[in-house]
Amino acid sequence: MSKILFRDPNVTIFQSALYQTNSTVVRTDDLVLVVDPALLPDEVAAIREYVESIREDRSVFLVFTHSDFDHIIGYKAFRADKVFMSETMAENPKRIAILEQMFEFDEQYYIKRSYPLEYPVPDFKVYRDAVQYRHLSTKMAFYLTPGHTADSMMVVVWQLGLCIAGDYLSNIEFPFIYHSSVEYVKTLEKLPRIHDRNWFTRLIPGHGAPALTINDWLQRRTDSLAYIYALRESIAMGTPFDEETFLGRYQFPRMQRKEHEANITLLRKEHEQGLWTWDPDNVPVLPEPIPFGETT
Ligand SMILES: [Zn+2]
Repeated sequence: MSKILFRDPNVTIFQSALYQTNSTVVRTDDLVLVVDPALLPDEVAAIREYVESIREDRSVFLVFTHSDFDHIIGYKAFRADKVFMSETMAENPKRIAILEQMFEFDEQYYIKRSYPLEYPVPDFKVYRDAVQYRHLSTKMAFYLTPGHTADSMMVVVWQLGLCIAGDYLSNIEFPFIYHSSVEYVKTLEKLPRIHDRNWFTRLIPGHGAPALTINDWLQRRTDSLAYIYALRESIAMGTPFDEETFLGRYQFPRMQRKEHEANITLLRKEHEQGLWTWDPDNVPVLPEPIPFGETT
């Protein structure tokens, strides 16, 4: 069984025992939205049973925030009417390797599943910021959020004041920068603008506890930016970064030290390539929203 971390009449967050990975199920009058169903077989089965129990004649939409294997491993357990992801995720050149990671994970722990492992195939590709999708009276807006991975995206569900953020703004993880700190910072800078356009109070990260107030996720955003800027400064100036104090603030410092070290390696490369130059003309501006979707 999967642990239910949070529940209100429209939103249920299931949390895996592994990595505290969050799977969000949103029910509106018109649809059931399932975001990143994860992770162990019984946990995925519990999410599927719950979705089946509430779907009635609603459409079921699956959304993937990015292609990290733990977020997509539940894909084929669901009968989805539509699958949403970023275009970059759909075209991820590493998708065979990611699928291989899923097989390796299941074999490592002798895990058997009642459904096949596959890399998700999209029905709807988010190719730019502020793409909106409306289904009957439910309206969603999608934003590209590269930085953690190149193919990350967020979704805002309008009526619920809810942002499902993927692997950003976790309270148990500092930024894991697999793609680019430059893009990561731009994504964090974009967040208040996304908020101003869509107005959400609650934000659900990929791992850990949801932020239930604006102050909560704004504070997490500040913490994330502070970490990246402090790390950059220590690399650029050759001054020490107080790792012990920093990692000591987190509950899983042994494993997360490796993530911090990987961040240092990536940021050193960025520094050598001169990628951190501040360009005041390059502050992210959101394009006009494009509405898509069914209107019936
Ligand atoms: Zn993750």
